[in-house]
Amino acid sequence: MAYDFLIVGGGIGGAVLANLLARQGKAVVVVERNPGPSNRIRPEILWPATVERLRSLLPLEVEARWGLGLKSLNVRSARRILAHLPAERLGITPCSTNPNQTRELLLQQDGFELRRGMELVRLLREDARYRGAAVRDVTTGREEEIAATWTIGDDGGNSVVRRECQIELKALQFPVEIMTFAFTWPATLPPATAHVWLHANPRQTGLGVMGMIALPEERGMALIVGSPRAFTDGVALGDAVGAAISWHEAWSEVLSQVRLPDQGHHVRIFWGHAARYGVPGALILGDAVHPVSPAGGQGANLSVADAWAIAELVAQGRDGTDLIAAYERQRRPAAARSLRFTRSTAQLFRLPAWLLRWLARLGLPLAGRWPGLVRPFIGKATTAFLSDAQDMAPVRL
Ligand SMILES: Cc1cc2nc3c(=O)[nH]c(=O)nc-3n(C[C@H](O)[C@H](O)[C@H](O)COP(=O)(O)OP(=O)(O)OC[C@H]3O[C@@H](n4cnc5c(N)ncnc54)[C@H](O)[C@@H]3O)c2cc1C
Repeated sequence: MAYDFLIVGGGIGGAVLANLLARQGKAVVVVERNPGPSNRIRPEILWPATVERLRSLLPLEVEARWGLGLKSLNVRSARRILAHLPAERLGITPCSTNPNQTRELLLQQDGFELRRGMELVRLLREDARYRGAAVRDVTTGREEEIAATWTIGDDGGNSVVRRECQIELKALQFPVEIMTFAFTWPATLPPATAHVWLHANPRQTGLGVMGMIALPEERGMALIVGSPRAFTDGVALGDAVGAAISWHEAWSEVLSQVRLPDQGHHVRIFWGHAARYGVPGALILGDAVHPVSPAGGQGANLSVADAWAIAELVAQGRDGTDLIAAYERQRRPAAARSLRFTRSTAQLFRLPAWLLRWLARLGLPLAGRWPGLVRPFIGKATTAFLSDAQDMAPVRL
């Protein structure tokens, strides 16, 4: 059977796109490398426009499983609260998701085929355009060919689809690295909140901040952020993280649930913007086309917006090189705006540590007293990833 769309990767963008195209009656297959639900550990903040889009795809009764409105963000030093930012004073309720659960719920919807445990090996070429792909069963190693009019790569920052299409992406390394782990939300912290601590000894430990974000279903996600040297020695890292027990009782509860560094998920972050968004017969979306850092909470929101743009263009009857050009015209400016959060945060992290600390200790209490100071930043973060309104023809999906 030849499909209309072969989607490589069941990330949030691929899963959203599969749902939207299936609603248009297209024959869609998703191939996902993971044999079961993903177990990648990371937090994800979704902004209101994305939440609205996901609500239109997922039944209301499962919402409490994937989304939790955060009531406040608290920034602290080891001894005191530097800024308490309640959602109502920020003018927005950020939605904290369990990314694996969100993807899983989207992939469980009807209307398209999902083939788990299959990975892309190479694209199939015919008459100067791609027409599907060879995929491999990750358990048996058996290869097969899947014919499709369009192949869409949502296969992450190391995209094989991008490589196969020979689309260039100059990736830059983000100056800090992150360790994450999941835990049961401690009773000593208010539910549905997020907390960030500036580390007390950044010069000795290399750690900048540590945080906890509440997730749906009484779960939480911890973030440990530091320079690359902070993650080179597991024992020193364990000691540096353990110091947090003296800052707040919640840390002893949380750290007792994990063995670090072995059970932490350590990520090095690369970012960039691909030279093209597609070639005849193939498009790329999400991290495959514009990997970003967590700064400004853009990556997953961008990926959903990319998927939305492709589905709207397909609904308008765009095809061939016209689809590729219209997709890139619509999405490149939005991704460039989103990448500014990563670029400016990377520049900020290159400042001397003492200056960064001084700026944080001066700026955060001001932001706590006058949340209006943070609103322009929030305003940009919540909309940067959206396509320009004038480009978006209103199409009912
Ligand atoms: C610590 C951290 C915090 C973050 N916080 C936020 C945040 O607050 N807000 C936000 O919006 N974003 C955030 N992000 C970024 C966000 O998680 C990513 O940008 C987003 O997941 C990208 O989604 P995607 O659809 O492009 O692909 P992904 O979710 O990366 O999915 C790619 C999928 O492709 C599959 N795959 C890969 N290769 C193949 C292959 N060859 N064949 C078949 N399948 C394959 C993988 O198994 C995976 O399921 C954060 C990231 C990190 C690391």
